[in-house]
Amino acid sequence: PQQVAIESLSHDELVEAHANLSAQYADLVSTGLTLDLTRGKPAPEQLDLSNDLLSLPGGTDAKDGSGTDCRNYGGTAGLPELRAIFSELLSVPAPQLVAGNNASLEIMHDLVVFGLLHGTPDSERPWSAEPVVKFLAPSPGYDRHFAITESFGIEMIPVPLGADGPDMDVVRELVAADPAIKGIWTVPTYANPTGAVYSEEVTRALVEMPTAAPDFRIFWDNAYAVHTLVDEAPPAHDIVGMAAAAGNPNRPYVLASTSKITFAGAGVSFFGASAANVAWYQEHYSKKSIGPDKVNQLRHVRFFGDADGVRKHMAKHREILAPKFDKVLQILEARLGGTGVATWTTPEGGYFISLDVVPGTARRVVQLAKDAGIALTAAGSAFPYGRDPQDTNIRLAPSFPSLDDVAASMDGVATCALLAAVEARLTPDA
Ligand code: PMP
Repeated sequence: PQQVAIESLSHDELVEAHANLSAQYADLVSTGLTLDLTRGKPAPEQLDLSNDLLSLPGGTDAKDGSGTDCRNYGGTAGLPELRAIFSELLSVPAPQLVAGNNASLEIMHDLVVFGLLHGTPDSERPWSAEPVVKFLAPSPGYDRHFAITESFGIEMIPVPLGADGPDMDVVRELVAADPAIKGIWTVPTYANPTGAVYSEEVTRALVEMPTAAPDFRIFWDNAYAVHTLVDEAPPAHDIVGMAAAAGNPNRPYVLASTSKITFAGAGVSFFGASAANVAWYQEHYSKKSIGPDKVNQLRHVRFFGDADGVRKHMAKHREILAPKFDKVLQILEARLGGTGVATWTTPEGGYFISLDVVPGTARRVVQLAKDAGIALTAAGSAFPYGRDPQDTNIRLAPSFPSLDDVAASMDGVATCALLAAVEARLTPDA
């Protein structure tokens, strides 16, 4: 009965559907799958695309274009050539873009910690000296963002996330009224997990809106700026320039990395902001490090050559990723289309598809899938504190498994979603 709207089934038909789906589910369990769709990791074939890095910089030439010996200490801002390449891709002027180590998440953590312990250039006192600190959390969003703020007791306020950014009416009202709100987490391009792409209007509204806190910060995590699955990636908005024009130059923090461009966890990261913010960051950063890993930065400069080198490289990722995304969408449509059991996003890039099942059944679906050997990201993980108020959202990460495994997983997930939906209708008060 998969293509019939579950809503329209009589009680007897529901009982029959339940019997059929239970049998399908039993078959699924007996196949003994071990599949993993939990995290957005690049597949081995994607990592192979960057294998040349393993033998770079190579030979004995470890000097960058300006003659810096990358084997030695120094240069907290990172290599100018690397900053120039990503300046173009991220739309941040190179002098205001620093290149760092292997994890942009580490920079985000630093930015929060420095804010808490020292205060930002615009803070009246360190955030930790405030009675309460809050962040807006457009949801569904990235669980590791939320984990940073949660770990420091920063209160998160969920805000609905649409296809072109957060609901700005809600955001405007909250930040105008409450000086405790010091920041907002955003993933402006191909957001994790919905694929949302922030429009220019939303971006402008974010930098222009009046905020009760003088030291309000936008964590603009452009982790997927170049990770397109279509012919053209949306332009990276010049949020730093837009903020300066709006008279709020220090508001945005731009973050990015090559974790899903070259090697995940062994790439290079970036932080871009106003000159004042960058100086502030470097002042505090220079107490914890004498400088970033310039040898790895040099490897990346030689590997990419220029911004077009990055784009060409991303086209190869797309060839591997696009069929997996297509497969997920095709199976969701074939198994769940018309049933009223689920809706899902059709992202044009990034690493995730966001699946909304019947409200109240997401945890059940994830549990059913787990018992059938299909590991999904925990239900609710895309919401602050892991609490999805509707228990509806499941994040799908199809990049790592092979195409066949993606197909087998999604077919299994569809069976679980249908079974959970029929169960819920048969026992509405359960
Ligand atoms: N931001 C987002 C939105 C991500 O999805 C990820 C990786 N899954 C990261 C940051 C982590 O980046 P990094 O490896 O540079 O810490």
